[in-house]
Amino acid sequence: MISAFAIKQFVARAIGFCTNLDKCLIRARQCYVLCYHRVIPANVARTEHVHDAMWIAPETFEAQVCWMQQIGEIVPYERILDPRFKNDWPLFAVTFDDGWKDNYRYALPILQKYKVPAIIFLVTSAIDTGELFWPEDVVTKTQREINAGNRPKVLAALPALCLKEGNFNAEQQPAHQAEAFVEALKWVSDGERKRRIAAYYDRLGVEQKPLPGYVLSWDEVCQMHAAGIAFGSHTHTHRILKYSSPVEIEEELKRSRDIIAARLHVPVQAFAYPNASYKGNEREILARCGYRYGFRIDNLSLRHYTDPYYIPRIISYESIVQNPDYFKLRLLEVPLY
Ligand SMILES: [Zn+2]
Repeated sequence: MISAFAIKQFVARAIGFCTNLDKCLIRARQCYVLCYHRVIPANVARTEHVHDAMWIAPETFEAQVCWMQQIGEIVPYERILDPRFKNDWPLFAVTFDDGWKDNYRYALPILQKYKVPAIIFLVTSAIDTGELFWPEDVVTKTQREINAGNRPKVLAALPALCLKEGNFNAEQQPAHQAEAFVEALKWVSDGERKRRIAAYYDRLGVEQKPLPGYVLSWDEVCQMHAAGIAFGSHTHTHRILKYSSPVEIEEELKRSRDIIAARLHVPVQAFAYPNASYKGNEREILARCGYRYGFRIDNLSLRHYTDPYYIPRIISYESIVQNPDYFKLRLLEVPLY
C-alpha cells in the first residue's frame, strides 16, 4: 500500500519539477527558525529505532546548511527576531533541542566549517547526570532487546507500559508499540509513569538506570560555548509545561537558568518548550525568570511571529529534508501537510 506521506512526497517532487522553488523562496524573503534534535548517521538512527522527527544525517544537515547559505543567510536568532533588521533574502536561524551528544560530535564540525551561528536548548538535569531522557531510554532499551533476538520477551513485558487495556496488540511491531505507549505516558503523573517503566524494565530484565552516553557533558557544552555556540534552557527535567502548575514551571525555569548561567557565565535569555507543548500563559513566568524569548514548534515562518514568548519554529529532520522539494514547500507554507 502507498502511504499518504509517499503520495505527498511525489506531489512535492512534481511541483518542484514544474516550479523553481528556490526562486519562490528568494522572492518571498521570509525568515525561518529551524529546530533540529539529533545529528547522527542513518544506520545508527535505524538500528536504535530513533523517532523519525528526531534525527538528521550529518551529510543531509551539511547539504541543508549549504543550501540555506546559497539562497539566503543563517544569522543568530536575536538578529532574525529584531524587527529593525531588514532582509533582502531569506534568513534562517538554527536551533537544537535537548542537548544531544551527537550535536558535539557531528553538528559542531559542520557549524564551524560553515561559520553557522546556533543555539542549543539544554535539559540541565540530563547534562548533570549524563542519563538519557526516559522516552528515548524506553525505546532504545526495547529496540536493543529486539536487535538481540529477544522479541518474545519484549512482547511479554510491553503490557506493563500500556495504559489502556486493549491497546496492546501482540501482532504489531513491538518498537512502534513502545513508542505509542511512551507518548501516552507523557500525560500521566510522574509517580505512575515511573512505576510502569520500572515494572517494564523488571519484566524485560534490563537495568533500571537510564542509559549513559547520549547527552552532552558540561565539558562539551563549555567547549561548544567557547566555539561560539549559544545555549538556552529546555527546562531542568524536560517537564511538559502544559500540565504543570505555575510553581513547578517557575522551578524548572529558574533551576535550569541558574545552572547554565553558573557554568557558562552568561545570562540565559532563551527557552524552548519541551514537547512543543504549552498553555499559552507562560509569558509572565518566563519574563519574571529573566527570559526574553520562548520557542515553540509549529512549522510556521516568522511571518506569524507576534509574541517573543511563542516564537514559531520549523522542525527539520531526515525524512522531510531528504526530498528538498517537500521541505521547500513546507517553508513556503504550502498546505501539503
Ligand atoms: Zn525536547
